[in-house]
Amino acid sequence: MSESLLAVSDLRVRFETSGRTVRAVNGLSLSVDSGEVVGLVGESGCGKSAAVRAIAGLHGDDARVEGTVSFDGTDLRTLSEERQRQIRATRLSTVFQDPAATLTPTRTVSFHLKEALWLADRPDDRSLRSALGITLGPRDLGSGRGSRERRERALDLLERVGLADADYLERYPHELSGGEAQRVSIAVALASEPELLLADEPTTALDATTRDDILDLLESLVAERDLALLLVSHDLGLVGERCDRVSVAYAGELMESGPADRVLEEPRHPYTRALLDCRLEGANPGERVPTIDGSVPDPTVERAGCPFASRCAHATATCRQSAPPTIDDERGRVRCGELESVTKRGAGPDTNGTHVPPSGSTDGARSGSVEETETATRATTSVSFDGGVAADEPVLELRGVSKRYPIEDSWLSRVRGRDRYASAVDDLSLTVRRGETLGIVGESGAGKSTVIDLATGLESPTAGEVVFDGDTVGPIANRSRDQLAAVGRLFQHPRSSLDPRQRVYRAISEPLLEAGWRRDRRRERVSELLSLVGLDDRHTERRPRELSGGQCQRIALARALALEPSLVVLDEPTAALDVSVRARVCNLLLELRDRLDCAFVLVSHDLGVVRHLADRIAVMRDGQLVEYGSASRVCAEPESAYTDELLAAASGLADEPTDNHATFHRHR
Ligand code: SF4
Repeated sequence: MSESLLAVSDLRVRFETSGRTVRAVNGLSLSVDSGEVVGLVGESGCGKSAAVRAIAGLHGDDARVEGTVSFDGTDLRTLSEERQRQIRATRLSTVFQDPAATLTPTRTVSFHLKEALWLADRPDDRSLRSALGITLGPRDLGSGRGSRERRERALDLLERVGLADADYLERYPHELSGGEAQRVSIAVALASEPELLLADEPTTALDATTRDDILDLLESLVAERDLALLLVSHDLGLVGERCDRVSVAYAGELMESGPADRVLEEPRHPYTRALLDCRLEGANPGERVPTIDGSVPDPTVERAGCPFASRCAHATATCRQSAPPTIDDERGRVRCGELESVTKRGAGPDTNGTHVPPSGSTDGARSGSVEETETATRATTSVSFDGGVAADEPVLELRGVSKRYPIEDSWLSRVRGRDRYASAVDDLSLTVRRGETLGIVGESGAGKSTVIDLATGLESPTAGEVVFDGDTVGPIANRSRDQLAAVGRLFQHPRSSLDPRQRVYRAISEPLLEAGWRRDRRRERVSELLSLVGLDDRHTERRPRELSGGQCQRIALARALALEPSLVVLDEPTAALDVSVRARVCNLLLELRDRLDCAFVLVSHDLGVVRHLADRIAVMRDGQLVEYGSASRVCAEPESAYTDELLAAASGLADEPTDNHATFHRHR
């Protein structure tokens, strides 16, 4: 059997930090053939990105890399640094989640593409520059025939990624939408005509339709150019639809691999099964979703036994003491010492958190460590929206609201009488009632964020009225103390929404302090809030860097709820979270909706989350409302073709929940 284009074997990546060794990757093996798409999945902190960086040679000087990274039959690690860099510069490219990691804000698209082409033509020069850390300037790219040729080739690259307009060449990264910026970074990656593309969460930050376009583009490159694609993602729906094979990583180790349809539709490893159980798409809207208790093991602690043992419902004493065997058979590879008993138990819970725990339990956490108590501390009864949710008086009303922004404001344009405004929101009317969740969906640029800014007073409308609890309200500066306290807001990026220097107690108590609460009442309220979001007083002295992503989101939520708001605005609350943490945060939000006497506005490009949490859905496009109705009706019988498009693009939403594991609508 001929060797794969990329064959990674027993890859280990270690970092030394503050006198401790972080074991990011612990013996990972995988392969990718030409013309094949292989998915690499797992929760955050499972070593996926560290592995990609090590394969691409982008791991940095502080990392120690061991194992084999064989490319086209040659172990890159046996070659000289110079030769390694040449191969990595010409035959292998990388695309990251955030195009900002690839694109320099002060350089035009034209510069980025010409630079990539210039370097692709000079692999020796490229590797030397990369070794010396020297970057190119516009003058290095020259002028004359060479430059004109590169411009033509840059246009070709843009056309290949679906941006067939010369105007794009002169744009700066901030003048591109998220999808356009990602297309440009793919064009940059393609400049050297690579044989292997490593794509690390390339569509995570994009809305569903843009995500689909980018994935279609990558898929066409695989088909047309026989490209090998390693696609890192925490979106199992996407991997199920787009990949030929899949590798599931946990704590830097491979847990299971094989054909994508087999691994995801008939998973064998308890971790794969637990990940699939966490998918909202497999649950009925409004129902509590199974979660995986606990967290990925601390990578600085050396351990014996199976890395998944602390979270696995099948774990035995042997699992905790000795490393599990790897079983290779016709169905793929799986690493579990209790495979027979796991298989016999069939569809039962695979982790300590795949069930709704009895009231007062710690949701399956066994040792009661602070990390484990991140899971919700009280059980809830699932509430189906079809069963009816009490919805009474309006909390927020947008009455015929429009918001326009100036786009060209020179005296000349005024004299010429040009339309100098772009409309972000156009004549929008929405109502949110106490006790309900309104979901707002739409692609980037639809006006969702402007609606939030209008509701919270960060912006004031150009026309129309924002009415809060019966009173017309203006921007923040004109709102009373009570009106300000009545709105809580949760931001998209939990970690960056908290001050890295502030301890948890300070972060949560700050709004209370500003509202004039006394010290003893503040202390009491912080305890109450921590308990409300499933944490406890042991977290008060921690700083954001000592918390997981899910814990940060809980802290941010506790802060947003501190002053008992009537309205909580959730801005992409799960966009930055992986599938298991997303499930926990969704369960928490369902629980809060039932317990608190307030209204929620949920803005998300993830239709799965909106369908799961919202009572009603407003679909926006180009600043206008294209559909508005009950979540069940909008998702089951959309009236607008655009809603239909969004639903089709949201992976897995067409699946009916079943007792078995997921089925995927495969593209490949
Ligand atoms: S059964 Fe044992 S070896 Fe298998 S995943 Fe669970 S803890 Fe690991």
